[in-house]
Parts: sequence; structure tokens; C-alpha cells
Amino acid sequence: MSTTRLDPVALAADFSAYVWSATTADVAARHGLRAEQVLRFDQNTPSLPGIPQIPLAESFARLNEYPDGTYRELREAAAAYVGLGAESWPQIVVGAGADDLILLCARTFLSGGRRAAIATPTYVVYRQASQLAGAGVGEEIEGADLIWRCNPNNPTGEVVAAAELVALARSVPRVPVVVDEAYVEFGGESVVLFLAEAPNLIVLRTMSKAFGFASLRVGYAVASPNVAAVLEERRAPAPIAGPASRIAAAALRDPRLDVVETVAERERVRQALSATGLDAPPTATNFVYVRSGKPLAAELEAKGLVVRSVAGGIRITVRKPVDNDVLLRALGVDAPLSPSRSATVIRTTTETALRITLDLDGSSRVRVATGIGFLDHLLTLMVFHAGFDLDLVAGGDLEVDEHHTVEDVLASLGDALAQALGTRNGVTRYGAATVPMDEARATAAVDLVRRPHAEIALAFAGDRVGGLALSLLPHALERFAMQAGCTVHVQASGRDDHHVAEAAFKALGRALREACAPGAAGIRSTKGAA
Ligand code: PMP
Repeated sequence: MSTTRLDPVALAADFSAYVWSATTADVAARHGLRAEQVLRFDQNTPSLPGIPQIPLAESFARLNEYPDGTYRELREAAAAYVGLGAESWPQIVVGAGADDLILLCARTFLSGGRRAAIATPTYVVYRQASQLAGAGVGEEIEGADLIWRCNPNNPTGEVVAAAELVALARSVPRVPVVVDEAYVEFGGESVVLFLAEAPNLIVLRTMSKAFGFASLRVGYAVASPNVAAVLEERRAPAPIAGPASRIAAAALRDPRLDVVETVAERERVRQALSATGLDAPPTATNFVYVRSGKPLAAELEAKGLVVRSVAGGIRITVRKPVDNDVLLRALGVDAPLSPSRSATVIRTTTETALRITLDLDGSSRVRVATGIGFLDHLLTLMVFHAGFDLDLVAGGDLEVDEHHTVEDVLASLGDALAQALGTRNGVTRYGAATVPMDEARATAAVDLVRRPHAEIALAFAGDRVGGLALSLLPHALERFAMQAGCTVHVQASGRDDHHVAEAAFKALGRALREACAPGAAGIRSTKGAA
């Protein structure tokens, strides 16, 4: 193809574009690992997705239509969520993530000859957006045309009092002070309720962090009415996809966040790092900043653990406790492991590679990707009904057939269950459930005492559902029971094989939920042994 020489607007000599960390596939290739062995601690997002409270089929039913360009539903939900009340929706301006709003603020208030004030180190996009608008950047507040603040701050995790930012805004009443509160759910105080006092404040929020919807690309700004109107006038006509805006609105109306667990885990990780002599200052976010002159990011990456390399050190996103334990051990931290009922299993054989993170005290958040759609469906249902959290990725030799993947996934899930149960003291022990699915009916019974045994009777009429040979399921469930070290009975029959399998996995999930729940007396057998 012939080269075309266009003439873009010149950028500042020190402009540098946003750079993402290496992809999972790149990290794996670089270090001779399987993608399933790579654990990411670099995105400041939860390790499990938020739960879309709008059925996906409904979300995707009207793909031919534009979203409602006023985004009224989303703006009302956001206005109520931040504490202004739904009727204040005109004060909300939506964008494709907080990043889009950073760019919107920059193009609204900056241009050649203007200057933005940025504290360092901080989130790099403020600098990029300012320079893209042609403005200069520096730390000096005096004479600045826009002031960027990130509170709590990325990457240091530091937080300043809302009153300090309000005082700053009041000291420069004609200058927009943009306060990025991307992490505010994890700590610190919002300045939203001070907008009346300091109407030059512009607050940025995102659905990417505490809500777990980074892939949806939804963010919003909160501003005083006339500032919001100025931003609204300059935003793109429809920056957010219709399904994304509806899922975000539903989540804002009924937030289901893991903030308490994440904050507790962040403190455990930070204290473990500090106790080993690493410099991990207090943080009000879902990540821990470690100051270090050593090439820690590169050392960890070689082990498949991806952290963000930032000014003066590394930034570690808090994941599930057992995942964090893997990272802590890699950093040489000799701390007590997390007491949670969870497990991470990473396994590679010549046929399959897989990674499982299972949390028995979860809330039915499931991400399963085995490459076999119907198996993903069954495991999702089972774990959903068990009330666990599960993150499972597997890459098997599906070009041969699905045999190894199905067996290894269920066996490893059994391992994960055994590990997560630990001593098994204090669990209910028995669980049983009967689940109908239209004409099909399944029963499952579980005994968690260490007597591995399986009785699986699934009455299928045909050979396959989708990409899954049904004959593999009984054997795979047996492997699950053996590895989990428990007794599992599952019986299911019906006319439709899809229903039979679904009912069986749902019933097993229900039975597991009951058996794994904390019991009053703990596990007991008449022989007196657990
Ligand atoms: N602001 C800060 C401080 C961030 O750390 C990030 C994410 N890295 C963003 C904004 C971008 O958020 P969004 O996904 O909503 O664009």
C-alpha cells in the first residue's frame, strides 16, 4: 500500500501515548508459560466481573437501535447513587469510561496557550489529555487553567480530605478543578456533596473499578448544573453502548460491591508486605503501592505474575486472597496464608492447562472459559447454585477431542474444593437437593466426610449437546468426587438431554451449598473421627 502523509496537529515533544501492560498471551510467550498460568495484578479491576442485573438476551435485543442519547436512565441512577437525588440527573454527564470524561474536560477547558496543573506521580491520562488539547502541563497551581486531582491517587493510593480539595477549588473559583474519584468506593470522602459550595469542582466516577464493569466502558462526571451543561454540549452524541448503559444503570440502582472484602484483603496484603520489610504505604484503593528500586515487575512477570510498573515501584491490584498468596510467596513474603475458604489451583499437563480460583464464601460470581460452551454453561450453573465464586480458565487439546479438558477441569475443581474446605471442621457435612428442569428431574446428595465415592446415573438419550460428548460427564463427576474427597450421588432423567444435564449440575450445586455451609456442631461421624 502506498504511504499517505497526513498532517496531524503537532504534539508536545515529551508527549507519550498510553501503554498497556503486556497481554496475557505476550507474557506467556515471553516466559515459556501457558496463558492459564498467568495471573494479572495490574488492572485495578476486581478479578471477577460485576453481575449484569439485566438479562443479556434483553440487553442485546435491540442492537439495530441507537441508545437513548440523553442517557436519562443512567444519569438518574448515577445522580441517586452519588447522593444528589435522581432529580439532579442534569448534573451527570456520561462518557465511555472516566477516560472519555478526562478527554472531554481537557477539550472543554484547555487549548494551545493554556496550562494544566497536575500533581505527580498520578494517573498518566491527565497529562496525555492536556497535551492532546494543545495545553502545557506542570505542577504549579498558580495561573493554571485546569487542575487535575486524583483522590484516592493512582498509583500511590494516597488520599486527601475532601475539605482540602474544596478549599483548593474555592481558592481558584474560575478554574475547573477535576477530582477523579475512580477509587472512591474503597476509601476517602467524595467531594460531590460540596458542589454547591465549590461549583468549579468536576467529579469523575467510573463503573470500571468497584463495580467490576471495565469492559462496558461507562463513566460519568458530576458537576454543578451550568458546568455540566457546558460539558454535555461538547460530549459525543452516543458515547456508551445501549446494553452497557442499561447494565450500568441497574448496577447503580442496586450496587453489589465487594468493597468490605477487598479493603480487608488489601490491608492483609499490605501488612504482609510491610512485615517483610517492603515499603508499602497506606492506601485507600483496591491496590497496594510498593516503593522499590529493584526490578520487581520484571522478576514477577517471569513467574507469570503481572503487576504494573509505576514511578518509583510497582502497583499490585488486590485479587482474591488465595491469588494474593501466590504473589506474596513469589515476593518472598513469609506471612500467614489467608484464612479464607478458598483455593487457587494452577495445573499444566501435556494435554491441558488450567487455572481455578474458588471461594466457598462467594456470591455466585462465575467466570468459566474452558473452550467447551456447554461445559461452561453447566459449571456456571453448578457454581451459581452453590453460591461460590469461581474463576476458571482452561486451554485443552480440543483439536484432539474434549475428553482431557472435561476430565481435568472437573478433577481440578474437586482439588480446589478439597483445598478450600481445609480441615472440614465446622461444615454442615451433608447436603441434598432435588431440582426439576421442565420435564427433567435430578437429585443430588453430598457427604463431605473424607469417603470418596461416586454414584452417578445420568439418563441421556443421545450422544452430544453442543460440543460436549455426554458420556464424559459421569466419569468427570466421579473424578470430581474423588479429588474433592467426598461422597457424591447424582441421578437425573428426562426427555431432553440438555435439561437432564442442567438439572444434574444445578442439583449438585444446591447440595454442595448445603453441605459446605458452616454447621452448628461441625463435621462429626459416629466413629468420632472427621
Ligand atoms: N482514572 C483513574 C485514576 C484510573 O486509574 C483509571 C483506570 N486505570 C481511569 C480513570 C479510567 O477509568 P475508565 O475505565 O472508567 O476509563
